[in-house]
Amino acid sequence: MEKTIKTYCGICESTCGMQVTVENNAVKKVEGLKEHLRSKGDLCVKGAAAKDILNAPDRLRSPMKKENGTWKEISWDEALDLLAGKLNGVKEKYGASSLAVYHGQTYLKNCLAMFMMKRFLTIYGTRNLCSAASECFIPFLLGGIATFGSLAFADAVNSRCVVIWGSDPFSSGNMVGCNLPRTIRIFNELKEKGVRFIIIDPRTPAVARLADLHLKVRPGTDGALALGMMRVIIDEKLFDAEFVANHTSGFGQLREMLRDYDLEKVEKITLVPKGEIQKAARMFAASPVTVLSTRPIRSRRSGRSISCSPLRETLMSREGTPSLLPPSLRLRGLRASLHLKVNRSG
Ligand code: SF4
Repeated sequence: MEKTIKTYCGICESTCGMQVTVENNAVKKVEGLKEHLRSKGDLCVKGAAAKDILNAPDRLRSPMKKENGTWKEISWDEALDLLAGKLNGVKEKYGASSLAVYHGQTYLKNCLAMFMMKRFLTIYGTRNLCSAASECFIPFLLGGIATFGSLAFADAVNSRCVVIWGSDPFSSGNMVGCNLPRTIRIFNELKEKGVRFIIIDPRTPAVARLADLHLKVRPGTDGALALGMMRVIIDEKLFDAEFVANHTSGFGQLREMLRDYDLEKVEKITLVPKGEIQKAARMFAASPVTVLSTRPIRSRRSGRSISCSPLRETLMSREGTPSLLPPSLRLRGLRASLHLKVNRSG
């Protein structure tokens, strides 16, 4: 008998709503779920291909072992014995820390798998666990915690100015928490409404066609660019001094530190002309509602750079700004050091 199941796509963290038609325990059709809050019926090509992925004839369904150049199927018991023997051998010969595990993203959607992986690494005796998130999401998370006390998500839909920092949502990423078709739809609607876009990227990504300003920052120097923008905002008094005095700490140290980051120096570091840094900072500060959606432009300084980004986002925070933080984070943000507020009259 045919039935329809409302579920979500688990291929990436967007978790788009999915409607799956099943008959005799086999998937017949996969569609977007129209009533889903974010995806509203859209699926990207990967989600739309979920049925083909599930039924792909070359999909790995059991352990395989390569012998004399050819792969042969083996039982789970044999695979586990083989792995245990090899892993114990590595540990005896080189020590437990010689083992590193690099995991993919889908694994993150399976909390049990993640828990078991961590248990395994603890028992084995290594802490070398890494993934793409080590350079991307984790610095993003740590920057948010250091600045706001938690992870902060931007609300692009209610913004008047969107800064897209080191990301191309038109080819990857989901900065508005949506899949690709939905993201393109949202950004095109924002553009039509007159929302301004600042793109910070050494490349010219597809999203740059929306740009009012495109800063081609030298890779690995985006932290300096953030400091340069903060320098403009503070020098030109584009923040709310009363809010800073009443609700922040560390402003004196920030101002002191920024003395070392005059725009000539920032231009030399980042290769972004100082006029463009000024323009970006003023555009950012002038918008009644502003969003910063960002991951670091890849470098070994990712963590530091990304810490500067929410810091600058905080710099621009203001009351009645729905785009920046959910209320709980807004309150925590008040405790964060270096939390400033834009002076609307300034
Ligand atoms: S963006 Fe694509 S892959 Fe990710 S959850 Fe949505 S449909 Fe699935």
